Amino acid sequence: MKYQVVAFFILCFGAALSGWSWHHLKQYEYNQLQTEVESQSNNIAKVIRVQITEQVESLERMAKRWEYNNGTQFDEWHFDALNFMNYEKAYQSIAWLKKDNQVDWLVPLKAREETKKLIRESQEQRINLFDQAVKQQSVVISQSVTLNTGDKGFLVILPLFPNGVFDGFLVGVFSFDRLFSLFLDTGYFDTPVTMMERGQIIYQQVPKGTRVTKNMLTKKLSVYGSDWDIYNWPSSRSIEKSQSMLPNMVLTFGLCISLLLSFSFYFARQVERKKQELEQSYEELEQKNREIANTQSQLVHSTKLASLGEMATGIAHELNQPLQVISMNAEMGPEYLAENKHNRVVKAFTDIMQQIDRAQAIIKQLRCFGRDSAHDEHQEISSEEMINSSLLFLKRQFMSNNIEVRENIAPALPNIRCNKVQIEQVLLNLLVNARDAVENCQDKIVGIKAFQKDKQLLIEIYDSGVGIGADQLDKIFDPFFTTKDVGKGTGLGLSISHAIIEQHKGSIKVESQINKGTQFLVTLPL
Ligand code: ADP
Repeated sequence: MKYQVVAFFILCFGAALSGWSWHHLKQYEYNQLQTEVESQSNNIAKVIRVQITEQVESLERMAKRWEYNNGTQFDEWHFDALNFMNYEKAYQSIAWLKKDNQVDWLVPLKAREETKKLIRESQEQRINLFDQAVKQQSVVISQSVTLNTGDKGFLVILPLFPNGVFDGFLVGVFSFDRLFSLFLDTGYFDTPVTMMERGQIIYQQVPKGTRVTKNMLTKKLSVYGSDWDIYNWPSSRSIEKSQSMLPNMVLTFGLCISLLLSFSFYFARQVERKKQELEQSYEELEQKNREIANTQSQLVHSTKLASLGEMATGIAHELNQPLQVISMNAEMGPEYLAENKHNRVVKAFTDIMQQIDRAQAIIKQLRCFGRDSAHDEHQEISSEEMINSSLLFLKRQFMSNNIEVRENIAPALPNIRCNKVQIEQVLLNLLVNARDAVENCQDKIVGIKAFQKDKQLLIEIYDSGVGIGADQLDKIFDPFFTTKDVGKGTGLGLSISHAIIEQHKGSIKVESQINKGTQFLVTLPL
């Protein structure tokens, strides 16, 4: 449960970090945009100031020329004014007013009525700008006025003082549109701009789609006593330029990474948990295997003891023979001594010793077979010797049951590395089964063949017995499968034999025909 919380924490932390990075990158972009708008706004204000000052100063220079020449002829003035307007494009018209404020001369002529109207309006204002200009003896500019074109402008009023005596006015009608078209239309400034005077728009260049609330900057501009507010916004071009894919990429990438990290952590922990469970199951399995192996070795031992029982008659006979020889020689011993037949006495003792050795060998073999051999080390032994010692106890029994034993052991068989007692037990079990199979048959034949093929030792045990039905053939290796009477068969012989041969990395196969006989083929690696 705990690691799920950690995985969730990793996810949340990753998501928060990605969000934080996204926010800061966006903020950075916003600041960049703000800086750009600020710089454009400063430049626009500067250019407006310079342009207006320049245009007004230019008109002042024209006035100076008038004063210097102590007034000029109409033609000369007309020419000068037309020429002047050619250069100073922000002026819509220029007028010369006589001392009595009446318009005298005007350029261009077609603007006559409108210029007159504007001048009249200015003269009618509460503060008469014309009087103010005369009083100050300097240039005065009016508040914004609406021109006949619909756009806004202002009047530049210059009092004329040739030889220090007031002699009328020079008035320029200034158009904001004309002024701004000089520099804003050039494309040098591309930020949307609005210029306001006392809450009234006097110039506006805001393209459609401009988000006026975004990054707006206000700037105050004061020229010749007029106060204007300039509003600037970033152009859609600079917004586009400032918006990169980076913040969104960082956010998406960050979210993906944190998702991946938290899932990896979660699955890694899951895998580790499963591994621990598996290790635990493996441990339990090992334990069960050990228990099975233990039970199996106990079973092997008990079936071996059962085989010993099977062989009891043979063993008795085997031991009886040396005992008979010993008893016969012991009986004859005193007779030979009485007859002073020392040679015969020596021979009798030698025979007795030989028979004792034989009996001891049998007992040794029995003891060896009878003990628990499951944990014996594999040892190298003669294949022939191993086969013969398996046959040893049963041969006599076969003979007394009228069973013909056919032996076909290839000469010079190589040594084999195995658990001798266990392989002997397998062969003994197959031979006992063969004996039982021929028990009630007319021809009783049990045979054993042994030969080498490639790097394998092949031992075939066959009989002419009752055979095994096809339906039983795949069951005979199952534990406790027996067709023998209760008390005679345990049903463990073949299953244990199979396990022993498998432990030796060999194989055991069977072929059988009903009422014809059965062959078991044991293959062992050499
Ligand atoms: P058991 O001999 O105690 O019955 P086994 O596992 O040795 O147990 O044999 C299982 C069964 O296989 C036997 O009961 C018998 O039916 C069958 N069987 C084994 N060997 C032979 C054989 N040579 N001929 C016929 N049947 C056999």
